[in-house]
Amino acid sequence: MILLLVPLAAVAVIVGINWGWQWVLAPLLGLALLRWLLGSLRALVTDAKHLEAQEATATPVGSDERTLFWCEECGTEVLLLIRGTARAPSHCGQRMHERTEILS
Ligand SMILES: [Zn+2]
Repeated sequence: MILLLVPLAAVAVIVGINWGWQWVLAPLLGLALLRWLLGSLRALVTDAKHLEAQEATATPVGSDERTLFWCEECGTEVLLLIRGTARAPSHCGQRMHERTEILS
């Protein structure tokens, strides 16, 4: 890779001196933007696959316990039927508090 850079640098210097440095810098800027764009898209796809793997492990809550999430701000309570992730849901812009009741 480094051996390839030496002749490319020589060609870039020749092109820059003879026809102007915009012909060297513009393709380099385009290449940098393209690499950044592809890296961002790759990160999005990786995150989406991670979320799909989490959803595949969704399990129903057992019948011997009852899990509620309650909102400290407005008092809303949500009954959990199927646990998708370990993360608590959000309400009024903050995480809800979890309360598990053991049923006898
Ligand atoms: Zn709320």
